[in-house]
Amino acid sequence: MQQNNYEGQLMSTPYPKPDPYGTLSMPIYNTLAYEFETAEEMEKVFTGKEDKHFYSRISNPTVEYFENRVKNIVKAHGVTALNSGMAAISNAFFTLAWSGSNIVTTSLLFGNTYSFFVSTLKAFGIEIRFCDLTNAEETAACIDENTCAVFAEVIANPQMEVVDLQMLSDVAHKKNVPFVADTTLVPFTVFRAADFGIDIEIVASTKYISGGATSLGGLIIDYGTFDWAHSSKLKSVPTESENAFNFKLRKEVQRNLGAYMTPQSAYMQTLGLETLSIRFKRQAGTCLKLAEKLQSLPEVKRVNYTGLPDNPYYEISRKQFGELPGAMLTFDLESRERCFTFLNNLKLIRRSTNLFDNRSLIIHPASTIYGVFTPEQRVAMDVKDTTIRFSVGLESAEELFDDICQALNG
Ligand SMILES: *Cc1c(COP(=O)(O)O)cnc(C)c1O
Repeated sequence: MQQNNYEGQLMSTPYPKPDPYGTLSMPIYNTLAYEFETAEEMEKVFTGKEDKHFYSRISNPTVEYFENRVKNIVKAHGVTALNSGMAAISNAFFTLAWSGSNIVTTSLLFGNTYSFFVSTLKAFGIEIRFCDLTNAEETAACIDENTCAVFAEVIANPQMEVVDLQMLSDVAHKKNVPFVADTTLVPFTVFRAADFGIDIEIVASTKYISGGATSLGGLIIDYGTFDWAHSSKLKSVPTESENAFNFKLRKEVQRNLGAYMTPQSAYMQTLGLETLSIRFKRQAGTCLKLAEKLQSLPEVKRVNYTGLPDNPYYEISRKQFGELPGAMLTFDLESRERCFTFLNNLKLIRRSTNLFDNRSLIIHPASTIYGVFTPEQRVAMDVKDTTIRFSVGLESAEELFDDICQALNG
């Protein structure tokens, strides 16, 4: 698969002039409210007849600039920036779902998404249908007239299951249901969601885009590819049927939930966006090298990285994401105790959560992110006591491998 160069494109949208100082970068408009010349203009803006900022819970120039840069890169219909990945997920599903509707998904999900589905949404009468999303017939059989979305993560965190996106999209579309995917683990510089039939893309920009772990953020990217006349909830939204999701989200849900991105975060995430492609190539390249090297160590029982040819998802991963499917891998040691000793012995690699920081980060998911789930739930989510999750940073492969070896032997 050909690797595209995005470095130029990531920088290409200029900040609209005139600016009194001719600033090169978009300033942080650290403002809540905006002033109007006349009451008539105010009326027009507040009633949506004129498009201007009026309150920063709804829109802000610095955040809008970040949204527009993403929009230009992915060629989307609408991009909405929220204050975390979970805010993006909750805003998207409060827009899509209704009491009595169901979501068809898998139990191999990011922990908070799982909890949002089975605890938060369930209390509003929304049913969560877990099925094997790698199986087209089973997935099709789970969908009915009350299905509001088929939802998947492009690479499950931390289980690393990879679904066939075009297959899932075809299954969903055949039943007039939108396909929603969390693409956090593979940035849009290597993989364009719309090319694989994803209608609504969700990104925790906290991760790859922020880069240096500077700020939380989430994106809802609407490709305008689904005809919402098929949705019993969104068909009555007063706009063209392709725009119904975006309209409902921007004119209602996002305002009411109040989790819009702050201008400070948007500024930092815009900077992160500019180095995204370069950081990704370096970090994912190192990740592949380390995955290969880790396989040769007798203490390491299993390495899970979909860029390794013996991985069960290698072919589909390569088709969708190319040679470098992300900068996160997991590996298994003999026991939970071995995992803890190993973590405690590390000198360079940091014990921390988060993904795709500039620094390499390591965590034992079963005792931390999944620590409050019951052992049965962990089994259902395929989170093992022997598994370590490793997010590869900008350090060299040699330095990282040396640290791993000394920690295993120490
Ligand atoms: C981190 C993460 C989220 C949530 O993002 P936050 O910004 O922490 O709310 C959602 N999905 C995936 C796959 C993630 O890794």
